[in-house]
Amino acid sequence: MATTTMAETDASSMQTKTGTKYVYFFGGGKADGNGKMKDVLGGKGAGLAEMTNAGLPVPPGFTIQTEACREYMRRNAVSKDVDRQMEEALAHLEQLQGQKLGKGDNPLLVSVRSGAKFSMPGMMDTILNLGLNDESVEALAKRSDNPRFAADSYRRLIQMFGNVVLDIEKSAFDEVFDNKKKQKKAKLDTDLDAKALQEVIAEYKKVVKKHAGRDFPQDPHEQLVMARDAVFRSWNNDRAKHYRRINNISDDLGTAVNVQAMVFGNLGDTSATGVGFTRNPATGGKEFYGEFLLNAQGEDVVSGVRTPVHILELEKLMPDVYRQLRDITTRLEKHYKDMQDFEFTVQDGKLYMLQTRNGKRTGIAAVRVALQMVEEGLITKEEAIFRVEPNQLYDYLVPRLDEKGKIEVLTKGLPASPGAAVGQIYFTADDAVAAVHKDKKAKVILVRAETTPEDIHGMEVAKGILTSRGGMTSHAAVVTRGMGKCCVAGAGEIEVNEKTREMRVKGQTFKEADWISLDGTTGRVIKGKLDTLDPKSDDPELLKFMGWAEPFRKLGVRANADIPRDAIQARAFGAEGIGLCRTEHMFFGEEKIPHMRAMILANNEKDRRAALKKLLPMQRNDFIGVFRAMDGFPVTIRTLDPPLHEFLPRREELMVDIDMLPHYDARQKKSLVSKYRDYGVKAASDLKKALPALLSRVEQLHEFNPMLGHRGCRLGITYPEITEMQARAIFEAAVAVAKEGVKVHPEVMIPLTATLKEMANQGAIVKRVAEEVFKEKEKSVPYMVGTMIELPRAALVANEIAKEAEFFSFGTNDLTQTTFGFSRDDVNKVLPTYIAEGILKQDPFAVLDQEGVGQLVEMATERGRRTRSNLKVGICGEHGGEPQSVEFCHRTGLNYVSCSPFRVLTARLAAAQAAASDQLKVEGGRTK
Ligand code: ADP
Ligand code: MG
Ligand code: MG
Repeated sequence: MATTTMAETDASSMQTKTGTKYVYFFGGGKADGNGKMKDVLGGKGAGLAEMTNAGLPVPPGFTIQTEACREYMRRNAVSKDVDRQMEEALAHLEQLQGQKLGKGDNPLLVSVRSGAKFSMPGMMDTILNLGLNDESVEALAKRSDNPRFAADSYRRLIQMFGNVVLDIEKSAFDEVFDNKKKQKKAKLDTDLDAKALQEVIAEYKKVVKKHAGRDFPQDPHEQLVMARDAVFRSWNNDRAKHYRRINNISDDLGTAVNVQAMVFGNLGDTSATGVGFTRNPATGGKEFYGEFLLNAQGEDVVSGVRTPVHILELEKLMPDVYRQLRDITTRLEKHYKDMQDFEFTVQDGKLYMLQTRNGKRTGIAAVRVALQMVEEGLITKEEAIFRVEPNQLYDYLVPRLDEKGKIEVLTKGLPASPGAAVGQIYFTADDAVAAVHKDKKAKVILVRAETTPEDIHGMEVAKGILTSRGGMTSHAAVVTRGMGKCCVAGAGEIEVNEKTREMRVKGQTFKEADWISLDGTTGRVIKGKLDTLDPKSDDPELLKFMGWAEPFRKLGVRANADIPRDAIQARAFGAEGIGLCRTEHMFFGEEKIPHMRAMILANNEKDRRAALKKLLPMQRNDFIGVFRAMDGFPVTIRTLDPPLHEFLPRREELMVDIDMLPHYDARQKKSLVSKYRDYGVKAASDLKKALPALLSRVEQLHEFNPMLGHRGCRLGITYPEITEMQARAIFEAAVAVAKEGVKVHPEVMIPLTATLKEMANQGAIVKRVAEEVFKEKEKSVPYMVGTMIELPRAALVANEIAKEAEFFSFGTNDLTQTTFGFSRDDVNKVLPTYIAEGILKQDPFAVLDQEGVGQLVEMATERGRRTRSNLKVGICGEHGGEPQSVEFCHRTGLNYVSCSPFRVLTARLAAAQAAASDQLKVEGGRTK
């Protein structure tokens, strides 16, 4: 973050000076810039400069820095200085190459490449072969003695330029190309000869004229200026904006533009292009990893028109080039001290490096690479701690693919929901359900163009979901993440045909019941049936890594868990107690809900006490389980919190049932009986009286704004017998397990207090019951009574409330809701617009709003501790497992964070990193 602001101040100070350096040259063994200047040159530009300075074979060129982009966004044009400096740099490049852009018998061609500070793979646009026109294409053909190559390069330029600069749909060009392939009976792109490609060019030009209303520009300089500006504009295209939003990258950074002499991988079979990693980015294995294509240009490798070849094959085809590539990339890795992701092109047997950057990787790979690099002496243990993003540890908690032997990756979509799934494909939700119906053990993968709420039943039975359309926030992505199910979304290269029950990808057709494997962590779709590995939170590598990070951690990490099973799970992930045990969730169990409902329906204290008496032993049992699981650690139990109507039937539904009752036959009445059984309806003859009575109670409880209504401590204050029963269950359970030798520390938490008196009222009940139980059972246990801080008023009078509360726990979900005045349940009506418009940067329910809500947290902590210096303060709520928010809690001096069991690992690492960067005074240095 500090670096972002630095870029901004740099930029504004430069702006006032007249002599801003907009253009940085690289070539001839040296560069104006270097690898540290990512703010200015973007990641790609900085990498090209660094590689040039290191004497590596990089085609020369220049980088137009990010300030030119910001200027363009402000004024819709660049300044004269930018134009002038660009022409100077171009002249320098022409001189160095002994060529002229798009002129003469050896024309200079360039690529125009975007490159922002943080890599945004495929999110912005690049144009290759710029400088070609009707004349220079002839010269290129003659010079290369390869008319097919020349024509192929030209048609690519018109296509990319048409799409990126002139905003013409890709499909307009694809149609022409596919028709030509059909007409010539060509299978592959490479089957089209020079003549056919010339015909394509003629038609492409018509497409340009028709859609853009102008001719394809023949002047190379005009091409260059237009392409540069289009790359600047691409910073704000939807794909790029969306990517930045989900990756939390500032919209203000802007992109740099790299103009670079072309090298050609499509000159014939002594030429090639490829991409690779210095280690395996999925597993972290120390192996050279990558793919290439002979006789191809840049994008062909990823586009899937042709299937690329494993990089090890290069050793056989071009042994010298292979050795040089290994040597260079090993040097790059040592230099950057991190796994590299690189691009290269071989032109007529000569190797060129086109890009290098720290490679993205899965969580498992991140941990393994960090461990290896420490062993290899490349980095220190302290540096290693920052090589893993806390969120990536989630990968250890979901199943993954067992990647022994050769696998065939069919395509890559978005890693929408992590984990792995292996199964047989079905194309409709009904088919998926039918398959599982037929064979309970069937493993199903639901393949859809997109999912909609109508597909839910199919998603429910599927092991994994694959869609060809839609992004990280599409229906499929959101729903599967909620279900904890693996999903690959928006795999655009897959054609899904629901009618024929087929999918096509990379020229292969897959039919219903064919096996595929999905990796939701990387987005890969893999052919066939792989084995899966169970999640391993006790993976030795993970433990070793955490063993380096954990000693730094100051913040405690607890889990939110309501039932013994979750508590056991949380403890296995390293939770040091429970920060929130929601008692109401315990009531949803089948045997409990009728008593819970009876308790709510009771309209007098006597009936209510009778129902509570039935609930008491059940609650006590749940607490016993949770206490045992947390032996030695504190357990925070919240008294009843939610609006009671959540346990009752919907008012409208009841009204309909009452209206329809006279018209129902015996069978329909029977189904009503079972529907209302939990509300005391035993036979059809009860319905006539019971339903209106139920309705009248539902109407009594009805509230216009239940979230601000009869809930939280207000329940316990109006019905003290509820708090009494809960306190009794807690202390009876605590004493019982203490007698078994379990160490218990119950912390009873009163929800939604706003005043000292509310706290005092409920605190008194809890303490009285505790004493009663201790006396009856002749044993006492240490305990505390405290409160949630989830209303702004509570934060304001925290010094008062702390007189009675022995601990605070920020309920940041409600605190966010009440501070913003956003209803958590309805906020999605406005949030997407707010984020798109930049009114809010992030969803405040996912990432704590440090600026606003955070102030309340700081203030309440400070005021509370003024009254009670040893006040224990924590947070529970979604934010407790979100790395930025965890860092905030560390800075604010909280005692602990509490989050869902599956985020405990993430919170532990985030807290350790926060503390380590304090102590080591290092900048995060994470790979972004
Ligand atoms: P992206 O950010 O999408 O990877 P790049 O700017 O890296 O975009 O370029 C897209 C493709 O074009 C890459 O495969 C790259 O290697 C290739 N490419 C870019 N510039 C050149 C060049 N000057 N000569 C040959 N290939 C190039
Ligand atoms: Mg690239
Ligand atoms: Mg709350």
